[in-house]
Amino acid sequence: MGNLLETQVLIIGAGTTGTAIARELSKYKVDTILLESREDIGMGETKASHGFIYSGGLTAAGSLVMKSVMLPSGQTAFNPRSRKTQMEHESIKEFPSLAKEMEVGLSHDRRLMLARDEGDLKMLKVAERICGDMGTKITWLDREGILEREPWVTKDVIAGIADEGYQLSVYPWDWAIALAENARQNGLRLLLLTEVIGIKPLGGGFMVYTNRGSIRTEFIINAAGPYADKVAKMAGVCDFGLTCTRSQMVILDKRVNLLNQSVSLAPKPGKVRTLRKTISGNIQTICSEYYPVSDPEDTTTLMNWTDQSIAGAQEMIPSISKKDIITSYVGVRVFNTRDPEEDILEVSKGNPRFLNAAIRLPGVSVTPAAARHIVNLLGNQGLELATKTDFNPHRKRIPKVSELPDEERRKLIAQDPRYGHIVCRCEEVSEGEIVEAIRRGARTVAGVKYRTRAGMGRCQRGFCGPRVLEILARELDIPMRKVTQMGGLSRVLLYRSKDLLGSGGLT
Ligand SMILES: Cc1cc2nc3c(=O)[nH]c(=O)nc-3n(C[C@H](O)[C@H](O)[C@H](O)COP(=O)(O)OP(=O)(O)OC[C@H]3O[C@@H](n4cnc5c(N)ncnc54)[C@H](O)[C@@H]3O)c2cc1C
Repeated sequence: MGNLLETQVLIIGAGTTGTAIARELSKYKVDTILLESREDIGMGETKASHGFIYSGGLTAAGSLVMKSVMLPSGQTAFNPRSRKTQMEHESIKEFPSLAKEMEVGLSHDRRLMLARDEGDLKMLKVAERICGDMGTKITWLDREGILEREPWVTKDVIAGIADEGYQLSVYPWDWAIALAENARQNGLRLLLLTEVIGIKPLGGGFMVYTNRGSIRTEFIINAAGPYADKVAKMAGVCDFGLTCTRSQMVILDKRVNLLNQSVSLAPKPGKVRTLRKTISGNIQTICSEYYPVSDPEDTTTLMNWTDQSIAGAQEMIPSISKKDIITSYVGVRVFNTRDPEEDILEVSKGNPRFLNAAIRLPGVSVTPAAARHIVNLLGNQGLELATKTDFNPHRKRIPKVSELPDEERRKLIAQDPRYGHIVCRCEEVSEGEIVEAIRRGARTVAGVKYRTRAGMGRCQRGFCGPRVLEILARELDIPMRKVTQMGGLSRVLLYRSKDLLGSGGLT
């Protein structure tokens, strides 16, 4: 990056929000830079997201009850007619065509909610009422009906409700990467490892200071996720605060085949008990409470939380076992203190050229509508929005050898034999896919993992880890010791063991 860059619009933060806005803006003749402080796209709140596309069904109803813990007066649910839910309704219609255009995986799942006692039944009625408000058709099932659909669920179940529509989901990082790649094809400038450290209003625009130089811009879009309040403060225009809650998720081995659809226990404020099959076929346990945290980077996994998560899963499917765990991780959800039910998607009151896009859960679900809203606001503030006639909405995903029909696989391997060399055996990822991921911007082990799934299987990099490291070092032309897990100080190899022996070994 040079000492001074200039642009019309500067977007801060490359999560699902910033990348969606960047892609929407790339439809217009507008010079745009997207800045991200981390090594890669989608590594903030986005990374831990479940990626459900909320559509007014049981997932949304359960979530409205669960999040009501953020409301001051103990109400049992968020408002199903809020602007947020309207944006979800608007966005859900667009996901199938957007996913097709950008070749992003989109799963279609069904959902069941269980009651084990009278208290649960009451909460199912609340969920049913919310679904009714949102126009979703719900079916009541008796115990036998449930066990027919899900033979492994607890025999304590007395009744349940089923959402007869499909629950869509994406992998959120996949979504963010696709949006950014497509925006770049259409002219976006993306700067990673570039952290905004200061903002000064300057002659109808701003001077933005980063760790890598300065950028003069006419407009700023603040999509900095859990740091959106900090960024707004830098510009002297902050009129909201953010709060965070953390929870821990567990992923089970694919061989655990005990679930046909997503299953939840009756919803409770501040509590979530859900099992779902991810796009790639693993069971994910989402069983935790909302724990408030002050630091959005507080993502240390804790053993007792893993135990809690498995205990929650066993309340639904008793035969789930700790032995089936392949990994666990923590996600930090962000809410704003001004109105926990709504996103802050607005022109800042303090400066008409500074726009906030501070989105709360579920942020992935509203990306199409929210991005359009922000771009319209830019237009209202005087940015000329002339459409590009050559905008290309299509983006090709990295070929997945394991999913190709035989003939196409043979053709690909004939063109590039590296696609015939499997590096990650658990997820069947080839060297060709890893090299392509690096060519597209992966710089770390996590960057390769999120783009290809190498290392996401049963062995959790036990076998493929060293090979991925070698390929990264070779393709990036850096020593293996410089390769990091996910940027910063997260080096995978610290010393050569021979060097340690030479210096007298470890002390
Ligand atoms: C456990 C969990 C489950 C969820 N489940 C769902 C779900 O099922 N469905 C759904 O729709 N949503 C879900 N969400 C919510 C959703 O993930 C978020 O709403 C969404 O990802 C927010 O994206 P974002 O781009 O606003 O924020 P982020 O992803 O946090 O992106 C902000 C980016 O800004 C960067 N940044 C910050 N400060 C600076 C700076 N000074 N300079 C440069 N860059 C900066 C950060 O590094 C970060 O990458 C879930 C969230 C969690 C945690």
